[in-house]
Amino acid sequence: MAVIKANAYGHGLIATAQALVAAADSFGVARLEEGMALRGARIDNAVVLLEGVFTAAELQLAGREQFELVVHSFLQLELLEQYAGAHRFTVWFKLDTGMNRLGFRLDEFADAWLRLGRCKAVGTTRLMTHLAAAEEIGGASARTQIERFNALTGAIALERSIANSAALIGWPQARVDWVRPGLMMYGISPVPGRDADALGLRPAMTLQTQLIAVRNVPAGETVGYGGLWRAPRDSVIGIAAIGYGDGYPRNLRAGTPILVNEQAVQVVGRISMDMTAIDVTDLRTARIGDAVTVWGRGLPADRVAPYADTIAYELVCGISQRVAVEWSP
Ligand SMILES: *Cc1c(COP(=O)(O)O)cnc(C)c1O
Repeated sequence: MAVIKANAYGHGLIATAQALVAAADSFGVARLEEGMALRGARIDNAVVLLEGVFTAAELQLAGREQFELVVHSFLQLELLEQYAGAHRFTVWFKLDTGMNRLGFRLDEFADAWLRLGRCKAVGTTRLMTHLAAAEEIGGASARTQIERFNALTGAIALERSIANSAALIGWPQARVDWVRPGLMMYGISPVPGRDADALGLRPAMTLQTQLIAVRNVPAGETVGYGGLWRAPRDSVIGIAAIGYGDGYPRNLRAGTPILVNEQAVQVVGRISMDMTAIDVTDLRTARIGDAVTVWGRGLPADRVAPYADTIAYELVCGISQRVAVEWSP
């Protein structure tokens, strides 16, 4: 199941789906609207709504579009029980094995399972759970969740699914019938301390811009809003045409890695809406028009994310409308 929710993690929902149309057994999206966008683009693959539906009207629509449903609550069971249409849904019955977000708790399992089994609206049933800390490889959290899932479902002869990207990488025992990679498909590491290069992942997205100014800043002067950064030496500062209006987070700290002409340098001062200052003193050759790579090829997004106290997921999801997208095969 190729997970392409949130605009395919900022990579473009439709273009990503088209690129994977032959490779993916199904597409995972969070919400009905995302599934509708896929159907609107004539993508006929199986589509799984990872949050399911919340009203009878949504269920009708899901039936019409033949979406598969995650069922994680008694409200969703009731909707299925009351469904009068002809469609027989493929249902992913979700167990909460410790994440405490969505899914039937262990003490609800027997009741919910019985009711699902009696629903005429259900054709195929599969079993799933989601891990809260798969990226802690070898940790107790994921191990306990996998054990609970196996204990509850081991005797049921239905297809099952546990693994997101981090579990695919770090938990071989989670690689059961279906796996649900998101982030790693886009060439980004989900495992802290093991970046994309180390895992053999190649970034699908490279976010690039160029220098629109290069200036000398004498020692002691400051750069940018609030005078946050003060030049410790006579410096050459390049101004790149990217800022928080493009999705480059404002809270990135001085020292954030960035590439100018494929050379690693550092961001200085506050990120503005449209611009970012870079210390290019040591490059000597920096010129207006030079290529700036913010993340992607040569600089994995998972290496940038900690400088904004975040994770690569949020960086790529946060690319704004203003950023022009160019596709290459
Ligand atoms: C988002 C999501 C995934 C994919 O997670 P990654 O960490 O991006 O691989 C898998 N399963 C579910 C239920 C999800 O919501």
